[in-house]
Amino acid sequence: MVNDSEKVSNELPQMLGARKSELSEWYHNILLLADIVDIRYNIKGMNVWKAYGYQMMQNLKHFWDDMFKNDGIQELYFPQIIPISYCEQNPEWWAGFKEEGFKVIAGENNEIQGALRPTGEAAIYPMYALWIRTYRDLPFRAYETVSSFRYETAHTRPLIRDREITVWHEIHTVHATKEDSLNEALLHVEFYKKMWNHVALKPLIVEKPEWEVFPGAVGGIEFYYISPDGKAMENGSVNILGQAYAKKFNIKYKDKNGQDETAWQVCTGNGARLLSAVLIQHGDDKGLIVPPNIATYQAVIIPIIFEKEKEKTLESALQLKHELQKAGIRVHLDDRDETPGKKYYEWELKGVPVRIEIGPRDITNHQLVLVQRNVGKKIIVKRENIVGEVNGMLHAVQSELLAKSESDVHKLLEYADTVDEVGRVIDSAKTAKIHWCRNGKCYDTLKKIREGAEIFGSDYYEKKPGKCVVCGKDTENLAYYAKTY
Ligand SMILES: [Zn+2]
Repeated sequence: MVNDSEKVSNELPQMLGARKSELSEWYHNILLLADIVDIRYNIKGMNVWKAYGYQMMQNLKHFWDDMFKNDGIQELYFPQIIPISYCEQNPEWWAGFKEEGFKVIAGENNEIQGALRPTGEAAIYPMYALWIRTYRDLPFRAYETVSSFRYETAHTRPLIRDREITVWHEIHTVHATKEDSLNEALLHVEFYKKMWNHVALKPLIVEKPEWEVFPGAVGGIEFYYISPDGKAMENGSVNILGQAYAKKFNIKYKDKNGQDETAWQVCTGNGARLLSAVLIQHGDDKGLIVPPNIATYQAVIIPIIFEKEKEKTLESALQLKHELQKAGIRVHLDDRDETPGKKYYEWELKGVPVRIEIGPRDITNHQLVLVQRNVGKKIIVKRENIVGEVNGMLHAVQSELLAKSESDVHKLLEYADTVDEVGRVIDSAKTAKIHWCRNGKCYDTLKKIREGAEIFGSDYYEKKPGKCVVCGKDTENLAYYAKTY
């Protein structure tokens, strides 16, 4: 039964809204208006992917599939239902989901009892314990792409905080030594850097505060997206598990001398949240601007129809479509019986990077009109050069989006060296960069400065001598403080 307070609205938004001043509303509206997901499914936090959005997500998935597999990480699939007997092998993990997670009970006498996977460890590690016997089985490196289910009591937000977290990949690796596991973790960081670059985003890469790491684990490296309102969104994490889980799930191997040793592990994951950052970052008041690398359609052809030359125009448009397809460009011909103006509006909203206009005069003059979505630049090109021109424009969109993302992050960060300054930075809708001594007391003091704001991590690369913004102690640790999603 779906509770009344949980009911979702069936109304479609009439207007997109201004991206800058009403970001949250803009994001909500664009998902529906641009056919990314339909959030009107009657369980809050569970969305229906629509074809246009799902293809974009699949294009991103193909990128990680290739990247992981080319590096020798094998793809597996584990059942969605985790038996309670597996869950109970790690009581600390299970405690987080036992009360409020999604449960499955089936059979005449309820003989099947399980949890819909909140995360993968409890499904995967009992099997790893069976598969890994000796040092020859290591490293063991695998991933799967799957949904995860969390009962979120707080505000859900499509693709950001869902109850079914979809198109989620998680890599789980097992190693003989701590050193091997640390090297693997660094490799995963490199994977993620490539993935962010592929979607023209510039992340912050941070170390988790130690108390946010699973008890017994070595550490965690997280990727954060800073949105235009200065808020930080966790978006992918590499967890260096140490032996914490291997001990619980009994993942052991025999070393060269036949001695039993406990294995070392890394787990890394992210999913549709990365697409949400893509959608939020690359947009304007007209709609989305989809990076060409993952665009469902990289170009859209709009025929300009005059009744007496209709057939000829459509035929030329179709030829053009085939030529571009043959060159490997994802192209759509919009030959619906609608005005060009309406089509321009719709495809701008959906963020197709390049628009190609073709009318009778263009056909006569052996030319085409190209419009670049991110800057609105309109150029006339020779018909014979179309493949090169479109590819050139796609390349320009991709690199301009990345450059803008880098400059936006830069503008959204501000260094603060007093507690008052930290508050002022948050009030100006930015993320504060601060010196922090890593002490929990200073962390707690900062948490009280602005509601909903906290230190979400320390810069993984940058170190610089300074004084803790709270206690004044010398430290080289640079941390980030912001309101978080
Ligand atoms: Zn301090």
